[in-house]
Amino acid sequence: MPEPTDDCIFCRIIRGELPCHRLYEDNHVLSFLDIGPISHGHCLIIPKAHVERFDQLDATASGACLAVVPRLSAAVMSATGALSWNLLQNNGAEAGQVVPHVHFHIIPNVDGRRLRFEWTPGQLDADAGKDLAAKITHTLNQT
Ligand code: 5GP
Ligand code: ZN
Repeated sequence: MPEPTDDCIFCRIIRGELPCHRLYEDNHVLSFLDIGPISHGHCLIIPKAHVERFDQLDATASGACLAVVPRLSAAVMSATGALSWNLLQNNGAEAGQVVPHVHFHIIPNVDGRRLRFEWTPGQLDADAGKDLAAKITHTLNQT
């Protein structure tokens, strides 16, 4: 797996050089409370491998991260009283990624504090959709 880097905040948390409120840990994954929570219970799941974006993560590490989500989100809801929550995962600065080490946000909806996002649906054209699906599956089948 890629080596942790000296200057990455999350690699430093993994190594124990920076403090955090740890929630879960195994060979591939660490989870801890977010230092700037959007809502009470906002926490992060990160792979121990230093990889910048989710599309660069291998199947073992990505599977290990996602495997934690159901149990951890249920525990967060139970501890905070939240009845709903969002899973957020940003890739690239333009997508809102600030820390360049893959991470998944679990953001519970508590006391009116929750993730807010802009979502303006378009309309998928049937022909354009067919072409796009062919293009994506072609690339997918080569990897
Ligand atoms: P991004 O915008 O990259 O998806 O989110 C990065 C998240 O990491 C933010 O929610 C931010 O509050 C959190 N964060 C940044 N630095 C630290 C830190 O040193 N400790 C903890 N616990 N969270 C951090
Ligand atoms: Zn890192």
